[in-house]
Amino acid sequence: MKILITGGAGFIGSALVRHIINKSNDQVLCIDKLTYAGNLKNLESIFKNDRFNFEKIDICDQKMLTKAFFKYKPHAVMHLAAESHVDKSITGPGNFISTNIVGTYNLLEVSRMYFESIKNPAAKKQFKFHHISTDEVYGDLGESDPPFDENSPYKPSSPYSASKASSDHLVRSWHRTYGLPVIVSNCTNNYGPFHYPEKLIPQTILNAVMGKNIPIYGDGTQIRDWLFVEDHAEALFTLVKKGIVGKTYNIGADNEIKNIDVVKNICKKLDKIYPISVNPNIKNKKLKIDSYEKLIKFVKDRPGHDLRYALDSSEIKKEFKWKPQRGFEENIEKTIRWYLDNLEWTTSNINNNL
Ligand code: NAD
Repeated sequence: MKILITGGAGFIGSALVRHIINKSNDQVLCIDKLTYAGNLKNLESIFKNDRFNFEKIDICDQKMLTKAFFKYKPHAVMHLAAESHVDKSITGPGNFISTNIVGTYNLLEVSRMYFESIKNPAAKKQFKFHHISTDEVYGDLGESDPPFDENSPYKPSSPYSASKASSDHLVRSWHRTYGLPVIVSNCTNNYGPFHYPEKLIPQTILNAVMGKNIPIYGDGTQIRDWLFVEDHAEALFTLVKKGIVGKTYNIGADNEIKNIDVVKNICKKLDKIYPISVNPNIKNKKLKIDSYEKLIKFVKDRPGHDLRYALDSSEIKKEFKWKPQRGFEENIEKTIRWYLDNLEWTTSNINNNL
């Protein structure tokens, strides 16, 4: 199978590309604009593989997209390219509208043109457009509400989630109106290696290591369902192969944790793995602390901050026997150790070139 992946140089996209190249014989064309969040270093381990190709393309550029589609002739498209940081969508929503909505529209139009040009019935039957989205489109839950399922109504709170909700609607309408074979998946919060440091988990690890304050919005009681990125990659690959056209699949980990507890857990693990006493940054800053927890600083809450997200993923579990491979404790430790071993990745992150 030849799979065209947008946003493959980002956090989840690169985990998906590595998964496909390492665990199958399929080919990948990664299309990425390489914004601040995209980094070819995320793909270093597979960059020279014969089955991997890369093109630096903005999904808002329909001409370049068309060229890439007709040159590469993909059997499936997996669309992950997006502006993904909620805080940035609050301070500057413009890019979110361009990439997440207009960019998705462009990709749908090019996919439709390409799909309609396929003459071979077997290839036409195989073609799929897989749109990767978020649980945030459903809005938030109260503490005792049941998790969202695939039929829950959309109620996005932030410019980010509203732009993703718009893109989900566009994708479904391209299926209903034009017959484009699509599937949509909505996933909970991911964590793991190569996560851009603006997000809660990498920011906590790196600020702690640097001896900087660890900011927590409000009182930190917001609840997220944390899924390890490699489990998400496996779910996505399963869905692009076996998912039923026209369907939506929720992907979650049944692992709901309060933000404050995630941060405290990381601090406790760091206290053991990289004790304060051996951390030169703590010494240089003359910080008189005995645990990384002392760096926690509660800051003004994010406007419109959702309280709780949780998904019912029984459909994907039942249909495809997918489930997360390992628990949070093991994976969060693996993630912390990855950041400690790859501190230069963080500092070089701004430079997109290998
Ligand atoms: P990310 O910000 O790490 O990566 C996004 C990638 O898209 C980057 O490589 C960036 O360069 C690329 N990109 C941005 N604008 C582009 C454009 N105009 N043209 C081409 N490429 C462009 O994001 P992520 O966390 O890996 O998320 C990937 C997808 O998964 C997004 O669609 C996001 O909405 C969704 N999602 C993320 C999470 C999560 O927890 N991170 C959870 C559920 C769903």
